[in-house]
Amino acid sequence: STRLPKPDQRRIMTVANQKGGVGKTTSTVNLATALAVQGLRVLVIDLDPQGNASTALGVDHQAGVPSVYQLLLGEIGVADAAATSTQSENLSCVPATIDLAGAEVELVTMVAREARLREALRPAVLDELDYDYVFIDCPPSLGLLTVNALVGAHEVVIPIQCEYYALEGLGQLINNIELVQSYLNPGLNVSTVLLTMYDGRTKLAEQVTEEVRNYFGERALRTVIPRSVKISEAPGFGQTVLSYDPGSRGSMSYLDAAREIAERGTERKTS
Ligand code: ADP
Ligand code: MG
Repeated sequence: STRLPKPDQRRIMTVANQKGGVGKTTSTVNLATALAVQGLRVLVIDLDPQGNASTALGVDHQAGVPSVYQLLLGEIGVADAAATSTQSENLSCVPATIDLAGAEVELVTMVAREARLREALRPAVLDELDYDYVFIDCPPSLGLLTVNALVGAHEVVIPIQCEYYALEGLGQLINNIELVQSYLNPGLNVSTVLLTMYDGRTKLAEQVTEEVRNYFGERALRTVIPRSVKISEAPGFGQTVLSYDPGSRGSMSYLDAAREIAERGTERKTS
């Protein structure tokens, strides 16, 4: 398959939106796989206790396997926490196990509680493992796990579902991002907005798209992800849509979105 340009520098991208069901996990696993099958080395960090990203990537996340929980505690490093995905040999995933459900509370009393993930992903560690991209899949909240994801990343990817109230709650997310920029991670850049579950037959989808483009400008990818049954079926088979139905519109749209992300590179600084 086609090759994509390697980024000048490794890109760590947090996929965040505190609303549930907007396509964070779906976008994380499919963008990551799309980059990996096109020749780039990619790591996914599953930071949602539900472990849906781990499931879709075919990575074991039963209680007891090495996981992101131990990574946050500093008990193990990325090399030991990451497992190779069934979706591509270029793709690894640090799975989330049920332990992570307690982490939100346990982190509160820990030293450097907002920077545990950044510490685990420090450049020396990732250089050795040679990843081009790291994607972090966030839980649907703005708690300490999401804060860790924002502190540990260079860029934020915001998936927005083409639905009523699509922009509702985004102000709160942007506020949190600005707080993190002010105090903890000044280089953090909201680089990418991705419209998901787009239904071209509806006037609503068109309206939401226009609103999002007005608000986010160039940061909104030209590619939009269509609503597609194939996309939603794939995780049930422990797959991404790219392997479940490679020729489908859903698969093509994630390949296009990944290409856009790769071709935009890292230069653009917007916030
Ligand atoms: P989040 O991680 O933000 O909670 P998910 O990625 O889990 O959201 O998506 C929520 C639900 O919507 C899942 O059941 C998923 O399979 C489905 N879904 C996501 N994207 C699409 C799409 N483009 N078309 C159809 N269903 C989708
Ligand atoms: Mg999710």
